[in-house]
Amino acid sequence: MSNTTQATNAALMARRRAAIPRGVGQSHEVFITKGENAEVWDVEGRRYIDFAGGIAVLNTGHRHPEIIAAVKDQLDHYTHTCFQVLAYEPYVELAERINALAPGNFDKKTFFLSSGAEAVENAIKIARAHTKRSGVIAFTSGYHGRTMMTLGLTGKVVPYKVGFGPFPGEIFHAQFPNALHGVSVDDALASVETIFKNDIEANRVAAIIVEPVQGEGGFNVAPFDFLQRLRALCDQHGILLIADEIQTGAGRTGTWFAIEQSGVAPDLITMAKSMAGGFPISAVVGRAEVMDAPAPGGLGGTYAGSPLGCAAALAVLEIFEKEKLLQRSQALGQRLTRRLQTLAAKHSVIADVRGLGAMVALELCKNGDAHQPDADLTKRLCAEATKQGLILLSCGTYGNVVRILVPLTASDAIVDEGLDMLEAALATALQA
Ligand code: PMP
Repeated sequence: MSNTTQATNAALMARRRAAIPRGVGQSHEVFITKGENAEVWDVEGRRYIDFAGGIAVLNTGHRHPEIIAAVKDQLDHYTHTCFQVLAYEPYVELAERINALAPGNFDKKTFFLSSGAEAVENAIKIARAHTKRSGVIAFTSGYHGRTMMTLGLTGKVVPYKVGFGPFPGEIFHAQFPNALHGVSVDDALASVETIFKNDIEANRVAAIIVEPVQGEGGFNVAPFDFLQRLRALCDQHGILLIADEIQTGAGRTGTWFAIEQSGVAPDLITMAKSMAGGFPISAVVGRAEVMDAPAPGGLGGTYAGSPLGCAAALAVLEIFEKEKLLQRSQALGQRLTRRLQTLAAKHSVIADVRGLGAMVALELCKNGDAHQPDADLTKRLCAEATKQGLILLSCGTYGNVVRILVPLTASDAIVDEGLDMLEAALATALQA
C-alpha cells in the first residue's frame, strides 16, 4: 500500500530504521512513488532528476515504454519455469544476441543469472574449471559484489568487507593504475609480477579480473595500453582475462562493452545492471570452449535468466538500436565532461573530471591538492543536491568522487537542468 499512503519521507525513514537492519545503507532519505525516464517523484510529491539511475541500471531510463510493454507481454505468457527445467526461446535468443555483441574473433557462449555478484561468482567457477587452477588476481579499489567470493575480490575494505571475513583463499590484489595518484601502468603491471614472486606462481593463477572503468572505486579508467598489456601477460601465462562490465556495460561508455575501445577481447565478460533496464538479470559471456568447461548441472539457478529479465534485456537491445543510444552515450559524455570541466576551472576543489563515454565523475579535494580527498564536501554536495532536486551518488576509495549515471535517454534539457542543480549545490556545499 506504500504507493498510495500519505506518508512523508521522514515517517517512512522511521519505519525503515525500525524494521530493516542498518547494514542496508541508503544514500538519500527519499522514498519514491514514481519514476519516468530521468525523473522520479517522492511520497511528498517532490520531483527529482535522477543522475544515479539505480546505480548504473537505468541507461534506458525509468520504465522505458518498450521495456514495460515487453515485460507485460511476457507476464501474459509465463513468468517462471526455471530454465533448467523447462526452457524458453527468449533466453536462447538473448544468448545469441550477446554472443554476437561480445568482442573477440572466436565462438562464444552466454548464460544468465540474477545479480552481478552471481555473474562474477560464476565467471570464477568457469575459469577454475577450465584452467584447473585456483588463484585469482583482482585490483585495488575494485568492486565485484557482496557474496563471499566477490567480497574477497573487492579491493575496498570499508564498508563492504568489515566484519565479514574470512573470504575464500587464493585471491590476490594487484594495483590498479591511477595516474592522478601516482600509480603508472608500469607500476600496476609490476604489482602483478610481484604477486607471481611473493604469493603464487603464475601457472597456478586461473584468472585476472578487471573493471575497464572502476565503478564503486571512483570511475578510474583503465588506460587502454594497460588492458592490452594485461591481455599479453595473461596469454603468456595461460591465465584467463575476465572483464567485469557490470557497471560499464550496456552502452554506458559509448560502446556496448567498455573494453571494446581498447581492442582487447577478454576470455570472459560479466554483465548485469543496465542490460535489462531495471529488471534483475545478469550474464556471463565468453569463449565457447571455456564456457563449456563446467559439466552439465554445474551452472544455473532457480531464477537465473528469468523470462521477465530476458524479455526486458531483448527490449533494451532493440531500444539501443532504434534510439542510437551508443552515439547518444558518446555525445552525452562530451556534454557532461565539457560542463564539469568548466566548473572545475572555477573551483580548485575539483581535482579531476574523468570518465569514458557517459560514465563521468568528478573528484573532490581540499586545498586544491588531489592528494587530500574531501569526503565531507562530497557528502555535503550530494545532500545539497537532493535538496535542490537532483539525485547524485558518490563513490571512490576515499568517498570523494561524485559519479554521474544519468539515463542515456534523458533529454539535453533535463541533463542541463541537473547540471545547473549540481553547480548550485556545490556553491552551497562550499559555503557550509
Ligand atoms: N561488479 C561491478 C563492477 C559492480 O559495479 C557491481 C555492483 N555495483 C557488482 C559487480 C555487483 O553487482 P550486484 O550488486 O548486482 O550483485
